Amino acid sequence: TRTDLGLAWNHRFAALGPDFFTELRLTPLATPHWVGTSPAVAQLLGLDEAHLRSDEALQAFTGNRLLAGSRPLASVYSGHQFGVWAGQLGDGRAILLGETATGWEVQLKGAGRTPYSRMGDGRAVLRSSIREFLCSEAMHGLGVPTSRALCITGSPASVRREEIETAAVVTRAAPSFVRFGHFEHFAANGQEAALQTLADYTIDRYYPECRDSTGLAGNPYAALLQAVSERTARLMAQWQAVGFCHGVMNTDNMSILGLTIDYGPFQFLDAFVPGHVGNHSDSQGRYAYNRQPNVAYWNLFCLAQALLPLIGDQELAKQALESYKTVFPDAFMARMRAKLGLLEASDGDGALIDGILLLLAQNGVDYSIFWRRLSHAVGAGDWEPVRDLFADRAGFDQWLLSYSEHFRHMNRAHQVDLMLKTNPKFVLRNHLGEQAIRAAKLGDFGELQTLQRLLERPFDEHPGHDAYAAFPPDWASSIEISCSS
Ligand code: AMP
Ligand code: MG
Ligand code: MG
Repeated sequence: TRTDLGLAWNHRFAALGPDFFTELRLTPLATPHWVGTSPAVAQLLGLDEAHLRSDEALQAFTGNRLLAGSRPLASVYSGHQFGVWAGQLGDGRAILLGETATGWEVQLKGAGRTPYSRMGDGRAVLRSSIREFLCSEAMHGLGVPTSRALCITGSPASVRREEIETAAVVTRAAPSFVRFGHFEHFAANGQEAALQTLADYTIDRYYPECRDSTGLAGNPYAALLQAVSERTARLMAQWQAVGFCHGVMNTDNMSILGLTIDYGPFQFLDAFVPGHVGNHSDSQGRYAYNRQPNVAYWNLFCLAQALLPLIGDQELAKQALESYKTVFPDAFMARMRAKLGLLEASDGDGALIDGILLLLAQNGVDYSIFWRRLSHAVGAGDWEPVRDLFADRAGFDQWLLSYSEHFRHMNRAHQVDLMLKTNPKFVLRNHLGEQAIRAAKLGDFGELQTLQRLLERPFDEHPGHDAYAAFPPDWASSIEISCSS
């Protein structure tokens, strides 16, 4: 069969039927240009690089040319936003083209209005598109489950936000973009058949092991809830360990696959401030860094309520959720042990971890720099660069005493190896993203490319690029990032 850009499309989500989406036309965007591309993601999608670089691709991934075999649609979902039921939302500016032969769903984000745009314009600005593109690939580089980003195209077309900016489209990919909110939508509307169709699709395609699980009374929907709870718990452990604040953990931004999705006002911690709020619109601090694990559980509770008609037994639903309470702390401990280079678990690990997190908070220590310096210090046996980070030297020395005792008998080379693979040298700090954005606004995409290259391999040293691993400049704290942009 003839394919367009070498891509063949499947439409398993669309096959669920018209209750789940609206088919639509793409809205063109004037005179597009390339802003960024990810060859690694092209490969995942089965798109070869020559095709990716083509003018056909530029037009197609801006939404100006319909790819043969694709079938643009916007899906409908609902959700809880900032703890409050928001009713129907849906893909207001993300358009699904279909699924590649390699099993990846592809969406154009910012490709124009849909029936679910409500008051929005269906567009995304260059600034937020660069942030989503870079962070998707940065999270993947860190080993954190995430949607991916193929490319960004930009256009001189203007978009009104706090000020006038220019439009861009991010092409993003994931095995599925189904959210907790999709389930909540059909539950809230009493569409039980559609709810079951969606749950069966999710199980059969993504969680086949739930079909014949023997736990939870052999109930596949309870098994699904448990599996999602566990994946979400492990995701939260990774976010917390790497110092990632999502910023808008509404239930419509929670992936049923436990992926990080919908990058908006996210932030990597600079100084370790447990109550840090990255989202400037979150005046209550609902989505503060240290509240993320509890919010995820709250969101899972919403998912449980949505699945209840299928599970049919409140006790079973509760049991399925229970696993979060053990999987999260276990996964978090495992991540933190790895950060400390502890090759095996022992009794005092919890106290050791609590101890360092308290010191980091009390001393406002830069989170990523601390862990990277600690990794090198364990190898070199020179603690000064780490000690220097603390105003409370005595406090640090006391902690160091018990830390050293913990790893005294361990293989130092293995330890350092683990730490340098666990504690990244490079994370997408706000100011780094901002520098790439400022340059891109002037038509210079070199900074974006450099940052992308560093973040794709964040554990490598990348000689000559230490400035990207340094403390944030003073102006970093004045960057304000709010909800939709
Ligand atoms: P978010 O907070 O980014 O997850 O968005 C919440 C809802 O608002 C989703 O239904 C989005 O599709 C929709 N939305 C956000 N920005 C826009 C926009 N510029 N145009 C249309 N819909 C939007
Ligand atoms: Mg969203
Ligand atoms: Mg968003």
